[in-house]
Amino acid sequence: MAAPKVAVVGAGVIGLSTALCIAETCPSCSVTVLSDQFSPNTTSDVAAGMLIPHTYPGTPIHVQKQWFKETFAYLFAISNSAEASEAGIHLVSGWQVFKNTPKEELPFWSDVVLGFRPMSEAELQKFPQHRFGQAFTTLKCDCPPYLLWLEKRLKAIGVQMYTRKVADLWELHSEYNVVVNCAGIGAHQLVGDEKLFPIRGQVLKVQAPWVKNFIRDGDGLTYIYPGIHRVTLGGTREKESWSLSPDPSATKDIFDRCCSLEPSLRGAQDIKVKVGLRPSRQRVRLQREVLSQGGVKLPVVHNYGHGAGGFSVHRGTAKEAAHLVGECLAALQGASSRAKL
Ligand code: FAD
Repeated sequence: MAAPKVAVVGAGVIGLSTALCIAETCPSCSVTVLSDQFSPNTTSDVAAGMLIPHTYPGTPIHVQKQWFKETFAYLFAISNSAEASEAGIHLVSGWQVFKNTPKEELPFWSDVVLGFRPMSEAELQKFPQHRFGQAFTTLKCDCPPYLLWLEKRLKAIGVQMYTRKVADLWELHSEYNVVVNCAGIGAHQLVGDEKLFPIRGQVLKVQAPWVKNFIRDGDGLTYIYPGIHRVTLGGTREKESWSLSPDPSATKDIFDRCCSLEPSLRGAQDIKVKVGLRPSRQRVRLQREVLSQGGVKLPVVHNYGHGAGGFSVHRGTAKEAAHLVGECLAALQGASSRAKL
């Protein structure tokens, strides 16, 4: 078989990282990214980019933990390199605080992040409304720089990138040997996945350079995540809402909730409001499928549905998707060898 041609649909964190893993594991492949939007216009650009996993109820915990571990190790290496600032990756320490002690005091990811421990009484004094807390150090991606860094890496190794809206994966069958679907919430329409639904999220990106530690309420709704240039204040979680328009009452509510955790934020400047649709599902769809029409077959690998935790697991799921692409190519190779006999 000549150099196999692989198309990756989608240029959010999942599409770009999957394209990178495919190009790294299959150097003889010709990889192309097709997407109707690139950074700064994807959901991935809106995200806070914190590495604190979201739990997917339909995926075994050991699998989720493996995805998180691989992603943490990959980004930790970048954070320790001269690339860190350009890639927008940095370590950040802080607190997750709870009004009541949670049932699970040790989350599954507690031994992947660094220095996980219960908060001391002295630390808890900073949060008079909270009774329990966990302190740890994790990683944060500043999302637009990280997406641009991924794009730069892809271009450097010869991956092509084109702006194109794909109406149906089948339309790619004559141009590509394997298609990888990383369309995020776009997969709802692209492959008619009714199990995929949006959870709308609104956040504020503010200037508050004195805020150096993250603070997350254990309910996951209110958070303060300092990045290299701006602090992300969150948030909202609205299931099945497709609206991308900012809601001014939510802006005020987010700001007030964050100020009650960190009163100095009253002095924050240059408040920008962002909205994104988390591509949510009971489980990430990470699987092979073969489309077929009139005896012609098109192998597809799906990698979408990362909900509230795409950044936290992106490298792990990208590696698994690249492995599935390898299996598709091996099957094609086998079929073409048999045809020659
Ligand atoms: P997207 O970024 O939406 O990318 C999908 C791509 O597919 C886009 O380029 C789109 O243009 C393209 N596309 C779609 N349909 C088509 C089509 N038909 N043809 C061609 N191209 C198509 N996660 C974390 O881990 N940590 C966080 O702190 C965090 N914070 C978040 C805060 C908010 C407010 C939100 C909304 C999300 C947050 N997330 C976080 C979740 C994270 O943003 C997502 O899980 C992740 O961005 C999903 O990435 P994706 O590449 O699948 O989707």
